[in-house]
Amino acid sequence: MRLSSSHPTDHHGWAELLPPRAPRAPLRGSHRLPWVIVGAGLTGLACARRLAELHPNDRILLLDAREVGQAASGRNSGFVVATSHFPGGVVEEHLANYRRVNRINLAGLELLDAQVAANAIDCLWQREGFIHTATDTAALREHGHFVDYLQRLEVEHSLLAAEELAGLLGTRHYRAGIRIGDGGLVQPAALVRGLADTLPANVDLHENCAVDFIESGRPVRLLLEEAEVLADKVVIAANYEATRLGFLRARIVGSTLAGSFTRPLVDEELDSLGSLREWGAISLHGGGATLRLTRDRRISIRNTAEYHGSALLTDAELARRQAIHRAAFDKRFPRLARVEFEFGWSGVEGISRNGTNFFGRQRDAIYLAGGYNGSGVSRGTAFGTAIADYASGATSQLVSDCLASAPASWLPPRPLLDLAAALTVRKRFRGVGLDR
Ligand SMILES: Cc1cc2nc3c(=O)[nH]c(=O)nc-3n(C[C@H](O)[C@H](O)[C@H](O)COP(=O)(O)OP(=O)(O)OC[C@H]3O[C@@H](n4cnc5c(N)ncnc54)[C@H](O)[C@@H]3O)c2cc1C
Repeated sequence: MRLSSSHPTDHHGWAELLPPRAPRAPLRGSHRLPWVIVGAGLTGLACARRLAELHPNDRILLLDAREVGQAASGRNSGFVVATSHFPGGVVEEHLANYRRVNRINLAGLELLDAQVAANAIDCLWQREGFIHTATDTAALREHGHFVDYLQRLEVEHSLLAAEELAGLLGTRHYRAGIRIGDGGLVQPAALVRGLADTLPANVDLHENCAVDFIESGRPVRLLLEEAEVLADKVVIAANYEATRLGFLRARIVGSTLAGSFTRPLVDEELDSLGSLREWGAISLHGGGATLRLTRDRRISIRNTAEYHGSALLTDAELARRQAIHRAAFDKRFPRLARVEFEFGWSGVEGISRNGTNFFGRQRDAIYLAGGYNGSGVSRGTAFGTAIADYASGATSQLVSDCLASAPASWLPPRPLLDLAAALTVRKRFRGVGLDR
């Protein structure tokens, strides 16, 4: 199927905070190559880095329809998850699966940690974990389940009572919390830009050039607006947009999330908060708010999620969502109610009906990794690395763990898809209540 090359690229908070960057030129002309990766988010970037390492004499082509940092990988809340939260009580038969997913998360976290350090990427990286919070009854129930899960999996954590949370974060909104020591926080747009700008020399990155069409066969043929590429192997790392190229149809949809940032807090405002000068708080309610105090003194809040045709919000729509962000912010920080939001942003993330991820060979020499249901910073990095290994014929614990992802549940075709997609997103983010 042909894909329009008019991908919207708007301005958004995280990238607005960075200095301007000149994107790499789009691809032009005819090319014959061993490797092509479609999509330069965290998955594609990790895949490119690993392929370059495995095949130092091969030229690896990495193509993105937008500028690096303009898709989910540069628009997320920046929580780098080590230990996933699975809603509901611990299911004995699922223990092996919980461990598998956490091994993948940890592999991704370790890879990012090493890459940020080795390339001196300036992205507010910290690896001191973050806090899971609960306010309403449903989230408090989850709190109990999560503690049980952490104990069963022997994950180091500490419990935080309401008073302690108030002392650390400067809000009395939360009734209980859990701090997990491993996991990280990052400025997502700075991270992906940093990764893109320090790729090995045998990776050729081209931005603002959508792959419009992929014809399977050997070699695989890719058509772009001004280029044609024949490749021995192709890795698709295009998240929910893989459907537009004819892959994962009826398996993945885009969920649109939105958040806002304050301006930097002045000393007096910062002092009115708790003792931590940088933190992340993620609701134990599946669709609850994610909040951060960033090292550069801003508070970010992300608390809306919806099915919006797999598209970003317009400025007017975003302004309406900001009323929701504002209400939740003021409820948590009444003393900061006059602190204005400086930026708002939306982002689209691929979700599947049964919460699974996608990994493996699609057909012929075409491989795919993606679809992380809102938790893809560490996992996308791990999947991207593993798909490079897998497509190269290498085996590892990480490859086996990724291959063990459950098959995806079916989503009906349009127009029923729109309804099914809306229900899928609503189910994932249902009944947030006070944790919104
Ligand atoms: C608002 C928001 C908050 C989130 N918060 C978190 C969080 O705190 N922690 C966490 O772990 N995860 C979070 N996520 C999820 C996380 O951002 C994603 O799971 C992850 O970034 C997915 O990475 P990816 O590389 O697979 O996909 P993407 O980042 O979506 O990258 C895919 C790339 O493919 C390109 N592409 C698509 N089609 C084509 C084509 N035809 N030709 C060429 N290029 C193409 C796109 O332009 C894009 O750059 C959040 C997501 C959103 C939207």
